[in-house]
Order: sequence, then structure tokens, then C-alpha cells
Amino acid sequence: MQHETPGDGRFADFLHRESKAATAGTPYAPAIVPTSVYALPGDPSGPYQYARWSNPGWTALEGALGALEDAEALIFPSGMAAVAAVLATGLRPGDRLLLQSDGYGGTRAAAEKYYAPIGVQVDSCATTALAEQPLEQYRLVLVETPANPCLDLVDIRATAQRVHAGGGRLVIDNTLMTPLGQRPLDLGADAVVYSDTKVLNGHSDVVFGHVTTRDADLLGQIEEWRRIGGAIPGPFEAWMVQRGLETLELRVARLQANALALAQALAAHAAPRAVVYPGLPGHPAHALACAQMRGFGGLIGLTLADKAQAEAFIDECRYLRAQTSFGGVHSSAERRARWGDPVDAGSIRLAVGCEPTEALVAELIRALEVAAR
Ligand code: PLP
Repeated sequence: MQHETPGDGRFADFLHRESKAATAGTPYAPAIVPTSVYALPGDPSGPYQYARWSNPGWTALEGALGALEDAEALIFPSGMAAVAAVLATGLRPGDRLLLQSDGYGGTRAAAEKYYAPIGVQVDSCATTALAEQPLEQYRLVLVETPANPCLDLVDIRATAQRVHAGGGRLVIDNTLMTPLGQRPLDLGADAVVYSDTKVLNGHSDVVFGHVTTRDADLLGQIEEWRRIGGAIPGPFEAWMVQRGLETLELRVARLQANALALAQALAAHAAPRAVVYPGLPGHPAHALACAQMRGFGGLIGLTLADKAQAEAFIDECRYLRAQTSFGGVHSSAERRARWGDPVDAGSIRLAVGCEPTEALVAELIRALEVAAR
């Protein structure tokens, strides 16, 4: 069942990629190296000279993240630091940038606050309108697919061709799907950004991000931006993310199976006004989701009658944390209208976690019935 689990031999190969190369006595776990300096006698040489530029723990994590996508990776202390690196290296005054009007608000805020005032034309369009939007004039198109919270999709391959026709660059925010659920570089994207705060680390205990690319020139520019700009991850946080990565396949398989089961149960129930999930055959981009993604992600759009009913549902459900963010092992929920997203007051973003499936579905349906009474 290709669309229910991202697991296959690739992840087994990934987990063991260094096992046989290790010599006797070598710890398999990467080291946490809390240093700001390295021994550096004479003329500077070697990979470790100053700790704003490199750290052995970063090297280990970047090797793993790159291996997952057959690419190179650069890590950052947050998803927004990864996005900021892509904006800083991709834009000059006079350039045009296209974002989604219904994508992650932090990316739009960064562009409008820091790039529009220096002469970058920042445009945005709805995800569903992107296919009709002329793209040839954009230096950079940065889109999230599925976009959240509305969960509309972008056709990555078609968009990459159109952006490249004008000489621009396409960057995909793959936070929701992770490298296991979607491989934008294989579909023609120039780079991919992630908030690893979400699914990739998966334990709701680290803020982190990374960028991947197969373009050596772009990689060099982003690495230089990090070195000069100084937005660097701590060695302990890098180690935490590496630990989370080991169970990524298990967690993604479970949370995607949970999300599909929940979306089906909610869609079959009379109480919701709407249930949006790319894995449901009625989703307008279901065919594209099947072709482009492996599984359908862990977010569900659930619209109830109004704000009061939505809040009552979140309150009532024993297995929903009331929090923002998504991708952790604990299921959570929030009304995105509270942040000004373009959704109904009764619309809930359900962020599905890794609880046992049957118990989770039963508890959410019970809470729905209590809230809808
Ligand atoms: N991209 C997406 C899709 C997000 O949801 C977020 C955070 O919510 C970010 C980027 C920014 O990530 P971070 O909070 O790790 O800086």
C-alpha cells in the first residue's frame, strides 16, 4: 500500500549507511561537541577551525539529512533561519518573489518586512491559483505543498518547469511531508526547506531547520550566509534532531496511517461541516497527492459549526493537546482563525500524532459527539 507507509528498504539502508564502515571501538552514536574553538596551529587548515563555521555534530547530522534526499544539507537553528537563508541568498533589489497567500505566515512576514523595503517585489497568490499564475518573471518562488492549514497542493514538477523557463529558482517548504513523504528535488525543485521543529525531530522538544539542494553553487552561497550571518544550531540540538531522525520512518508511517483513518471516520460522520485531507478521494488534488506524495501527511482540516463547538471539541478530547505547531508524537489541535489564517472560526487544524490508531479515532469521535450535542 504505497500511500499508507513511506517505509521501504531505503530507510533500512539509510539507518545502516555507516554501520559497516565503523572500526572496532568507534561509538555508533554521534558525539556532542560543545566547543567554540579547535586546535589551529600555523596556517589555518582542516574542516574544524572555529565553531561558528563547523562542528563535528553538524557534519554527522548534515550527512544523514543529505543522504535521505541524495543531496547536500545545511542545518539551521530554526525553520525560519533556513527560510531566511534561502531568501537572503536568492534575492537582490529589483527581483520578484512569489509566495502563497495561504502558506506559512512567517515566511510572508520575513519577505514583506525585510525584502519589500529594499526593492524586492513580493507577490503572493492562493495555492489553488498558482497553476494559472504567470511564473516566468520570478527570481524566486517559495511554496509549501500541501499548504497548511487549507491543505491545497502545488504540482512541483509542473511549477519547476515554469519557474525554470524564466530563469528563476523554485524552493519547496517540505516541512509537512518530510523527505520520506515527498522528494521535491527529484521533481525539479532547486532547494527544499524544512522546519525540523515539526515532524522531522518529532518530539516537540527542539526548534530546528535545514535546507537541502543538489546545486553546489547554491549550497556554497547558503553555507557562506550561515557562516557570516551566524544563525547556527547548537551541538546539543543537532544531536537531538539526529536522534529523532532515527525513528522518522516509524513515526511518519504511524501518523499518516492515523491521519487517514481519522479523516475517513470524520468524513463519514454527520457532525463536521467539512473534512479536508489530501488522502480522501473527494479532495480536489487527490490524484496529484497520489502521484507526488508518499502518504498524505499528518494534518487534517476539520470544520465544525462555530468557534464554540470547535473549542468544546478540543477541550473535551483527552488525546488532543491544545497547542500550535504539528508533527509531534502527541496529537494536537487548534483553531487557525485565532492567528488570522483565512479559515472559518469553527475550523480546526488537527495535527495527528502517533497514538494507537483505534483508541485515537474512538476518542476523537466521542469528543466530536459531545461537542456537537
Ligand atoms: N515552514 C512551515 C510550513 C511551518 O509550519 C513553520 C513553523 O510553524 C516554519 C516553516 C518555521 O519553522 P520554525 O518554527 O522551526 O522556525
